[in-house]
Amino acid sequence: MTYNIIVLAKQVPDTHHVGADAMTPEGTINRAALPAVFNPDDLCALEQALQIKDKHPQSTITIITMGLPRATEILREGLYRGADRGILLSDKTLGGADTLATSYALSRAIARTGAFDLILCGQQAIDGDTAQVGPQVAQQLAVPQVTGALQIQSITDKTLRIRRVIDGGEELVEAPLPCLITVSGQAKACRPRDVRLMMKYKHAALESELAASPYAERLQDRPWLRLTLWNAEDIAADKQCCGMAGSPTKVKCVENICFKAKASQVMDDTDEAIESLVCQLIANHNIG
Ligand SMILES: Cc1cc2nc3c(=O)[nH]c(=O)nc-3n(C[C@H](O)[C@H](O)[C@H](O)COP(=O)(O)OP(=O)(O)OC[C@H]3O[C@@H](n4cnc5c(N)ncnc54)[C@H](O)[C@@H]3O)c2cc1C
Repeated sequence: MTYNIIVLAKQVPDTHHVGADAMTPEGTINRAALPAVFNPDDLCALEQALQIKDKHPQSTITIITMGLPRATEILREGLYRGADRGILLSDKTLGGADTLATSYALSRAIARTGAFDLILCGQQAIDGDTAQVGPQVAQQLAVPQVTGALQIQSITDKTLRIRRVIDGGEELVEAPLPCLITVSGQAKACRPRDVRLMMKYKHAALESELAASPYAERLQDRPWLRLTLWNAEDIAADKQCCGMAGSPTKVKCVENICFKAKASQVMDDTDEAIESLVCQLIANHNIG
């Protein structure tokens, strides 16, 4: 069997390296001051796709990301680990999108790729953190969805069997193909980059970047170096459903909250000391 697998991946600010300049004075994220990384849950989603490809090597994995041109970094990152193709969705019309407009644009891009068997995405992005995009994409494409997956146990031409996280445990579910799966960050970590693939794809870039680079002449005999760029027109998107125009969410205000330690207490690591601390916290109404 061969499967056409789409992986949705988002480039996010690396929240492990948040410094004093992480926020602008207006209270928005200062993206320029933060290194950008492959959203961690999306790497877990990519690993699930790669495991299917290990068993069914003729399958294809296409990574789609919507973002600024620098998001090609994560497309290359996906190619280094075993994906076959990278598509960047980038356009001024798509900027300022909330989750509804983001999922609209992503679902139009998926539709443009043609017939697909499976869409894998992360459960949530570490910046926006809403966990809404996966379910919304499934809704827009009218395919079934399974959220919080830990592992795709088996795949046939008709069904998937998936282990997923639930409160206090796990459950095993079956879903028909095509469908969308959101993968939990608790799933198996993604395999590392493959050195041979790094050599193959290290100069992969958008056609416009390649044309201006010393590798332009290599494009003829190395088509795999070409990353695809699509704009709103390429995906036949209704501009009223894209970007700001298509975003019903209105952010009223954003506040920068800093937790400051006002007092500290050193205590022994004995049961009595812990009990006394709990009593004190209850008396102060810190815990109920
Ligand atoms: C009013 C408003 C304005 C906004 N304006 C901007 C803005 O100007 N610039 C900006 O960068 N953000 C903006 N955002 C944030 C933006 O809406 C979210 O980053 C985006 O919709 C994804 O939501 P999330 O991060 O909660 O993803 P989640 O729903 O938590 O993500 C789940 C999964 O969906 C997939 N996914 C999510 N986003 C993408 C993507 N872009 N490409 C590919 N896969 C994806 C990933 O697999 C991810 O793991 C705005 C949000 C609001 C509410």
